[in-house]
Amino acid sequence: MIPFLNTWPYELIQQDVYFHDCPLCGKSQVLLPLRRKDLPDLISGVKRLLVLPCCLNKLTIVGADRDYLLANQPLRNLR
Ligand SMILES: [Zn+2]
Repeated sequence: MIPFLNTWPYELIQQDVYFHDCPLCGKSQVLLPLRRKDLPDLISGVKRLLVLPCCLNKLTIVGADRDYLLANQPLRNLR
């Protein structure tokens, strides 16, 4: 069971992966240092450290599905 609090939706625009807004600082349209081709690894559970370009906070991504990234920490209700 995936903890919903640890999820955050992403968006794909061609090969790029975006957050509509950053869970940590609230900036909109954040281009993530990920590519579409990286998603299958994330979905299969390969861990990946993500440095958010907007606020330089680090997130450890531990999973994903077609709509959400899963972090090892809560991402919701932080602001
Ligand atoms: Zn941010």
